[in-house]
Formats: sequence, C-alpha cells, structure tokens
Amino acid sequence: KLLKSGWLLDLSKLTLGAAIGEGEFGAVFEGEYGGQRVAIKNIKSDVTAQDFLEETSVMTNLRHKNLVQLLGVILHNGLYIITELMTKGNLVNFLRSRGRLAVSATQLLRLALDVCEGMEHLESKKLLHRDLAGRNILVSEDSVAKVSDFGLAVAKVSSTTPDNLKLPVKWTAPEALKTRSLRYDVNVMRILLVQVKIKVQQPYNAFDSREVKQIIEERRRNDARSNCPEIIYTQARCYRRQNAEQRNPNRWMQDRLETEKAQNISL
Ligand code: ATP
Repeated sequence: KLLKSGWLLDLSKLTLGAAIGEGEFGAVFEGEYGGQRVAIKNIKSDVTAQDFLEETSVMTNLRHKNLVQLLGVILHNGLYIITELMTKGNLVNFLRSRGRLAVSATQLLRLALDVCEGMEHLESKKLLHRDLAGRNILVSEDSVAKVSDFGLAVAKVSSTTPDNLKLPVKWTAPEALKTRSLRYDVNVMRILLVQVKIKVQQPYNAFDSREVKQIIEERRRNDARSNCPEIIYTQARCYRRQNAEQRNPNRWMQDRLETEKAQNISL
C-alpha cells in the first residue's frame, strides 16, 4: 500500500549528512531531500525493514502540526524512513541542555500543549501510540514539540493487550499493570507533564523497577510539586484519576481549553 501510494521517494534526490541519533534499529542521520532538510532513519535488517514498512503505513494517514511528518521511504540499504528534520532534538535533551531559567513556564506549557494536541489528533484517528515518552517527542527549529516514533502504534480495536507486550512500567497506568488494558497513553501523558515540570528527571528516580511497580500498585505517587506552574500541576493531577474511565482521552480537548483559559489568567 505504502509503495503504491506515492510514498516511495527517489534515492538520487537524497543527500545523507551527519549522524544525529541512534535508535534501537539503526542510526538516524540528517540530510536533504530535494532541497528540504530531512531526518533519515536507516533500518538495516531485511526482516525488520519489512516490519517497519508496514508500521510506517500508519503514518501515511497522519498529518498534523504536532506529529512528526513522514515524507516517504526509500528501499535502499534495508530501508530509509525519511521524515521532517527536528533540529532541536528530543524533548528530554532539549530541556536537560537548557538551564532551569532558560525555559519559561509559558514555553513549558506550550510544549505540553503541543504534545496534547498531537495525541488528540492520534485519538481522533482512533490510534494508540503506546510508546509515548520524552525521547519520542522531538522539537523543531521554531521550538514546536511533535510526537514521533509510531513504531508501536496500533488501531484502537481491542481493549486488552497481548500478554507478551513490553510495557514501560514507570509510565504505565496502575490498572494496566494488572489487566493489561490499552488505556495508558493518557497516563503516560501525565507522567510526561510531571517530567516536564521537574525538568526531566526520570520519574521515580530513586527506585528500581520492582519497587516502582509496588509504588504504582499501592497508588503512592511521584508527587514533587516544587517549581511547578500551578496549571501544569493541575493538568497532571487530572490525568492520574484512579478510575481509568475518568482518564478518557476525550477529555484532553476539554482539559486543554481549561488550561488555556487558566493560562490567560495566571501566567
Ligand atoms: P525506538 O523507540 O524505535 O528505538 P528511539 O526513540 O530509540 O527509537 P529513534 O526514533 O530512532 O530512536 O531516534 C533516535 C534519536 O534520533 C532521537 O531521540 C532523536 O534525538 C533523533 N531523531 C530521530 N528522529 C529525528 C528527526 N526527525 N529529527 C531530528 N532528530 C531525530
């Protein structure tokens, strides 16, 4: 489908530049395609390249200012996945490399809202991302945050996950650890806001995975509130409702509007 529908790009128009990152399945380079600056992800093994080709087709339905845009693929040296270049790198590095005072509360909120809007668009397409994390949020030249890495994204067809699915424990909703329900993008969103708020320390920094699981199951929380703009705190708190239904992604729009209202008043 991907290959038939105009997503196959022309190798001769591609210039490969320096390596800018390393993912699980290969290096990421910057470069140019037909004069536009792009990022190139090279998937080397034939088997995974085939998988990625299928997974990438999820991205062909997506076009949104807060989702990293797929430009196309090239079948060369395995698979090249070409996307728009996000020159300021991933959100974790972006925030870590800047001092506490360099990113204002308004900017932080803007970044968080960018992610909300991207996720909201995914939700509207009935897609679950399932791998939302700071390292998968990239920042553009003009400091817009966009969600990337749709490798694990799935259509929201079933309410349970397969037993063998790897879960990012620290980011996972309490009930998902037990019932393996798929409703955890929103909880991840909450943790992400907490990360943004404390300038990207790993959540539950001082604990190992076993302890973290226990803390989440017992519903003791990572509740450092210091230096957090009130609105971000309130928004994050909203995502940790005990009842999964109340964490319904459809609330995002409403929450966002409320947040923006609050922003006008208090920032
Ligand atoms: P996976 O979860 O599939 O292992 P990953 O998140 O570990 O992936 P990649 O998505 O391959 O890794 O990206 C690795 C790094 O390369 C990112 O964290 C980011 O710093 C950089 N990168 C990836 N895509 C882009 C892009 N479009 N523009 C700029 N930098 C990018």
